Amino acid sequence: MMVRTRFAPSPTGYLHIGGARTALFSWAYARKHGGKFILRIEDTDLERSTQQSIQAILDGMAWLGLDYDEGPFYQMQRLERYHEVAEQLLQNNQAYYCYASKAELEEMREQQLSAGLKPRYDGRWRDSSKTPPAGIKPVIRFKNPLEGHVTFNDQIKGRITVANNELDDLVLLRSDGVPTYNFSVVIDDLDMNITQVIRGDDHVNNTPRQINILKALNAPLPEYAHVPMILGANGERLSKRHGAVSVIQYREDGYLPEALLNYLARLGWSHGDEEIFCREQLVEWFDLTAINRSPAKFNPEKLHWINQQYLKTADNDRLAELTVSFLTKDNCQIDQGPDLALVVDLLKERVNTIEELADAAVYFYRPLEPSNELKEQHLTAEAKPIMSGLLEKFNQIEWTREVIHQEIKSIAKAYDVKFPKIAMPLRVMVTGEIHTPSIDAVLALLGREETLARINNHLSNIPD
Ligand code: GLU
Repeated sequence: MMVRTRFAPSPTGYLHIGGARTALFSWAYARKHGGKFILRIEDTDLERSTQQSIQAILDGMAWLGLDYDEGPFYQMQRLERYHEVAEQLLQNNQAYYCYASKAELEEMREQQLSAGLKPRYDGRWRDSSKTPPAGIKPVIRFKNPLEGHVTFNDQIKGRITVANNELDDLVLLRSDGVPTYNFSVVIDDLDMNITQVIRGDDHVNNTPRQINILKALNAPLPEYAHVPMILGANGERLSKRHGAVSVIQYREDGYLPEALLNYLARLGWSHGDEEIFCREQLVEWFDLTAINRSPAKFNPEKLHWINQQYLKTADNDRLAELTVSFLTKDNCQIDQGPDLALVVDLLKERVNTIEELADAAVYFYRPLEPSNELKEQHLTAEAKPIMSGLLEKFNQIEWTREVIHQEIKSIAKAYDVKFPKIAMPLRVMVTGEIHTPSIDAVLALLGREETLARINNHLSNIPD
């Protein structure tokens, strides 16, 4: 049988880390088995669903490269189909109209609670021959079996059994004709021939209900795999501060999509000790049985580290393109400075994100004023004649990294000081900081004219 998986987000917020990981697992499973991956937007919560969220989900998936073969399907465009199935269930005496009002249901709930019972619908309209009250639009409820139990073999959690008397008659269609999640999800999984339902384990309690509906329809059951949730680094529910932000936020913060994808794959799933792997390897190795049964912990440092591994080997032109917007925001005029791809090549091993890469590149495109502390420490009267001497030499030499290096060395020798005694003031003058790559490489890229201008500028401010 052809494998068919789906990702079925509700568009009530952005695509966050948890959702993206669920999508990734479903995608990887389909790809591994040469199957199809389907995107379905579960937009039946009319109050909370927004077009913006739909767009954020589509953008997030596109950025991560989670391509789907069918969809996006929208549940609100399938209402007719849900009504048709509800009608069929009514005809077969597997569903019924329920006229209980809100107030009535509330009263029932309170009574149950005060009697120490679990609140649940008591089936008062299940086999009722009462005349329906006027003016109330009924809901349609499912006739859940009263006896027996539901068992399924979760691909991650193992065998799960729930007694039918634990489950009440759930609403299939609300009085406004909009289906509930449990109903539409079943009809869609059935119509879309889903073979593996891979989703967050917050839905595990829904599964027995869904199986009962499928059974009532004489439909084949998919396999279920409920993925444990992701906790924050502090061991608590993933909060905004601990990574529960939009996937797109990671793009804005300078992460590479392949790095985030790699990290998401490792969240609660592993293949031996492999930490860095590309999507083809993930597809080859992916297996539901290797998903951890316990919750995964989101670890921002690890994500940082993985991002750095990808940055190191990423193509310079691509990184340059990604860095442009950060630099432009930082008042840099890129066409006034050295080729950004060369700058990126020099810096990329030293940073964890594109944002850090841009921060490290700023001084190539505009001078940065050193702190007073750095000035006091390095731009001293003692350094002044040495820097003046160097300036003169710099005017004459061939402007290459090797020659610049040689020149710094020979000035050091002439003044009988160590190399850093020259490199440090030079760094401070030219870059405004002291943590830079090798200074000769920086100067070679920055160009003679700009280097001389910056040194000159500082020299005139150092008292003799
Ligand atoms: N729409 C549900 C959600 O976003 C997912 C349902 C499912 O995967 O079955 O939580």
